[in-house]
Amino acid sequence: MSDCIFCKIIAGQIPSAKIYEDELIYAFLDISPINFGHTLVIPKEHHQSAAAIPENVAGRMFHVASRIGILLKRMEEFDAYNLHLADGTAAGQVVMHAHLHVIPRGAEDNFRWNWRQLNYPEGKMAEIAGSIAEKLQKKLAE
Ligand code: 5GP
Ligand code: ZN
Repeated sequence: MSDCIFCKIIAGQIPSAKIYEDELIYAFLDISPINFGHTLVIPKEHHQSAAAIPENVAGRMFHVASRIGILLKRMEEFDAYNLHLADGTAAGQVVMHAHLHVIPRGAEDNFRWNWRQLNYPEGKMAEIAGSIAEKLQKKLAE
């Protein structure tokens, strides 16, 4: 896609600190990291939504991302990592070329996810699970 910043990075039109590349994916350092080493793993083909990424490419992204995470984890002050993917503006997606964040984490890194924990009213959990399960079965059969 011609006006996509990540497509331009893959094409070498915008410089990037490359970590890894193969025929399906490209991985490079995020320019504004949560911690140093924060990496983005992207499909070479332009897809806005993660759901549009073919299964073999998505599988490769996850496989490589988790291995980058293990490597980052072994580096100096880190002892853990997060994988993060924002799909859609409301979820925080800013660059509309699907990407998986690999974020190295340390116990003392002073970063916290703002993660709330709601409670389901009686019966709501089973209702939502049933509804998702039914729709998912149809979706996966498409
Ligand atoms: P999002 O918020 O869409 O999940 O994440 C987009 C990420 O891309 C951000 O963390 C941002 O720092 C990173 N980013 C945006 N533009 C560039 C760029 O030109 N080069 C690199 N390396 N990272 C970028
Ligand atoms: Zn793109």
